[in-house]
Amino acid sequence: MRRILLALLLCCGLSEGQQAVAPVAGEPANLGAMKARLIQYHACTEPDCYVPQMERQAELASRFLKQSVAAAQPKDKLALVLDIDETSLSNWTVELHDDFGYIHNDSDWCIALHCSPAIPSTLRLFHEATKAGVAVFFITGRPEGQRADTAANLKAEGFDHWQELYLRPADHPKSQTTIEFKSGERAKIVAQGYRIVLNVGDQLSDLQGEPQAEHSVKLPNPFYLIP
Ligand SMILES: [Mg+2]
Repeated sequence: MRRILLALLLCCGLSEGQQAVAPVAGEPANLGAMKARLIQYHACTEPDCYVPQMERQAELASRFLKQSVAAAQPKDKLALVLDIDETSLSNWTVELHDDFGYIHNDSDWCIALHCSPAIPSTLRLFHEATKAGVAVFFITGRPEGQRADTAANLKAEGFDHWQELYLRPADHPKSQTTIEFKSGERAKIVAQGYRIVLNVGDQLSDLQGEPQAEHSVKLPNPFYLIP
């Protein structure tokens, strides 16, 4: 045993009494390392990176849209539902500035300055829908008080017209979940006689609950979670 220890000291530069590192079993991923990985994921261009994944999901959504338009009857009122943040507009600049910590004032500041650029793959889907006569509805968890700034940002970024923009009312029940709010707005669309053929969002809570769209497409967003 003593010989083995001496061999280790000679070979590996360990001093007597120093131990090799014993890792912690089941330790969660390191936060600093995860942030670095997310920044790389957002910037890289390989197939498993953010932008290529966004493009692929938009292509999938586009295929669903084309199928629905081709199969529709003349009387059908078709609708596309889009979320806004990280679906139609990107808040990456603020996320990076705040080191992935949501700071309410910074987010509000960006909305007030209309600082969010369009997400190109969703903008293409938007134009494809409007050209095909599909009505576009935005449903966002942003508060009603941000309607004018949100509309101005969307228009400035090329989302030039839509059927309706639903924001969360100031007097919404405090216990209301995102799924309850968004599915409730979808119910209003269905009540107007529309078939929601496609719903696109970056959170599962954009897509779950009844009524659901005929096709729902989840975009990648490992940067934050809205349950
Ligand atoms: Mg979103």
